[in-house]
Amino acid sequence: MLKQSKPLIATVVATMALSFGVGTTGVSASKLDDLQNQQQQIEQKKNELNRGIQEKSSTIKANSEKKDKLLAQIRDLHGKIETKQNEIAKLEQEIQTTKAEIEALRASIKELEQKIADRDALLRDRVRAMQVTGGSASYVDVLLGANSFSEFIDRVSAVNTLREADRQIIAEQKADKATLEDQKNQVESKLATQEENKKKLEAAKAELDRQKKDLNGLVEQLEAEQQRLEKEQASLETEYSEAHEMSDELKQQIVAEQERIAVIARKAEEERKRKEAEARKQAAAAAASEQAESNRKAATSSKPASAGNTVAHTSAPAPAVSGGTWTRPAAGRITSTFGPRDLSWASSNHQGVDIANATGTPIVAAGNGIVSRAGSHPTLGNYIMITHSVNGKTMTTVYGHLSAIGTSQGAQVSKGQQIGRMGSTGRSSGPHLHFEVHIGNFGNPVNPMLYVPL
Ligand SMILES: [Zn+2]
Repeated sequence: MLKQSKPLIATVVATMALSFGVGTTGVSASKLDDLQNQQQQIEQKKNELNRGIQEKSSTIKANSEKKDKLLAQIRDLHGKIETKQNEIAKLEQEIQTTKAEIEALRASIKELEQKIADRDALLRDRVRAMQVTGGSASYVDVLLGANSFSEFIDRVSAVNTLREADRQIIAEQKADKATLEDQKNQVESKLATQEENKKKLEAAKAELDRQKKDLNGLVEQLEAEQQRLEKEQASLETEYSEAHEMSDELKQQIVAEQERIAVIARKAEEERKRKEAEARKQAAAAAASEQAESNRKAATSSKPASAGNTVAHTSAPAPAVSGGTWTRPAAGRITSTFGPRDLSWASSNHQGVDIANATGTPIVAAGNGIVSRAGSHPTLGNYIMITHSVNGKTMTTVYGHLSAIGTSQGAQVSKGQQIGRMGSTGRSSGPHLHFEVHIGNFGNPVNPMLYVPL
């Protein structure tokens, strides 16, 4: 459609150029037709373009809604990803704390191990001393240093207490070490769980990141599509405004052409009036000389005077031509008058007067003028439009539903001259003449009965 449009406009322009190159003198029979055909084509083109523009804009709207939905999903994902990131950060902190705990426990264990090792060494020294001296040197020294038996007994008991204390300390330190090892194991298993959880969170976040990337891709695609559509719409709009300008130009040309025909009608009227005046002058002169002649001869027989009507196109049922500017366009019965009426197929406002009679009844020009259109119309059927000049003012008459057209565009016609025959072409329920009168060019209908004797 896009590609077709340019050549069409180019063709129209070429046709226009051609039609303005010819027929600039006199009335061109086809010029108004051409202009109106061109205008119709352009209006059709405008409608097509307008449809295209509407389609584009509704697609753009649908895409934009789709994009909004995707953006909402992306926002949602952003929220979820942020939550996961916070969870991971929190867990990382917990892992740091746990690791610190493990380090502290390790240090405590090491310290205890050192203490146990030191005490072990001390005890081993004491045992070795006892073995070397046949007993514990230190304990023996303590015992031998007693000054009395009761002191000796006290010292024995003291040595026993001392040994017992040593054993107890070792046992307690070993128990402490076991507790610490146990704690260390627990904290290490906590760390393992935390590391496991962190891995799971990171996997979940990676999945969310992947989803977000997919959605971002879709949004990018939509944006590219929107850009393309907007470009196409803009070019259709440009074409539309070009067509619109051309249509306006053609409308002006149509008006100008109608004006030109009106000018020709006015000149024809002036010429006709001039000729009439001259004819009257000659007739008066002839009558005067004839009068003188007859007076001289003294008439014996009188000739019947010819009727005032000098036009000889009064074939059978043609209406009598009345004096004045206008005459009745057809003989017959008025079946519908100007104004509102109720007919399902017709315009609710009747723009003319209907005169019914037999098919073939002569139709005559209602006044002197130039035939501005003679052709076919879906509603009016075969029709004739005549542009008149009445005392310098333009008027237009229309004759519709004709069975035959007896004139052509550009023809100069006089009041009462037969231009066609009554029929029932176009939208019509029976043979009748649809007759319209417009002030100025076609488009301003008035009641024909106010102007034409019907
Ligand atoms: Zn009618």
